[in-house]
Amino acid sequence: MDCVSLREGESSLIQRGDTSTWSGYKLTRTSGNNFIVELNIALLPDTHAQPAEAAKQMSAVSTKLQECLREITPYLNGPNGEHLEIKLYDVTHGGAPVPPPINIIADTTNHGIREDAGRWGKYTDCPTITHELMHYMGLVDEYQERSRGYHTNPSTGELIYAKDGSDPLLYNCRIIGPADSIMRSQQNAWASVVSGKKNSLLYPGHFRTVTQPGCASSNKIYYTCANRAYATSGMGKGCPTPNTPSECSNSENGQWLQ
Ligand SMILES: [Zn+2]
Repeated sequence: MDCVSLREGESSLIQRGDTSTWSGYKLTRTSGNNFIVELNIALLPDTHAQPAEAAKQMSAVSTKLQECLREITPYLNGPNGEHLEIKLYDVTHGGAPVPPPINIIADTTNHGIREDAGRWGKYTDCPTITHELMHYMGLVDEYQERSRGYHTNPSTGELIYAKDGSDPLLYNCRIIGPADSIMRSQQNAWASVVSGKKNSLLYPGHFRTVTQPGCASSNKIYYTCANRAYATSGMGKGCPTPNTPSECSNSENGQWLQ
């Protein structure tokens, strides 16, 4: 994989799948320690709602997103004094390269279906928006998936999709992150910065994955562990490697994200 290591003043279009999630953003290194990510968020109307209601919700979600990006700016720090700012790409004035559009439906319902990277509504708070945005920068989920999975039909051995109570759980190969990681519990991560316990919503490994994408020298351990995030052992293929790689073991103490 090619390593994006920007010099001061350089920008690059990042569109990759190093981490079993798709990322699409424009990355700029404005000065030695400062990076800007631009995301091309395209808000779409909820087609189940009346046009006026759909438009109102698009405007509400847009305002919420902009406020959220302002709010998290002080908390996107790297381990060595680096800083990251996440901005919305300005389609009219942004210039090349243009990051790929990320379609988000401005959901008019009160609850949504499930926390979903593709729908935001009244129920989506800033910690959740941040978690979802980090997916578009290549970070994978780190929580134990519980609500969806597969079970085996005892007579045929066939795998059946199940809503819950399934064994194995979907994505049971996933490496679980530390309790205050934004990709495991966005609420805990948020509490840790608001209380002043931590100065960043991102672990060092998260920060490097976003700002040095594709660079094995910086991200080898993250890529190894993140590669298992969406693998399920009962799905015929098994986990990417039968045993947890040693660098990902004790994952809950956050060592793999340092
Ligand atoms: Zn997620």
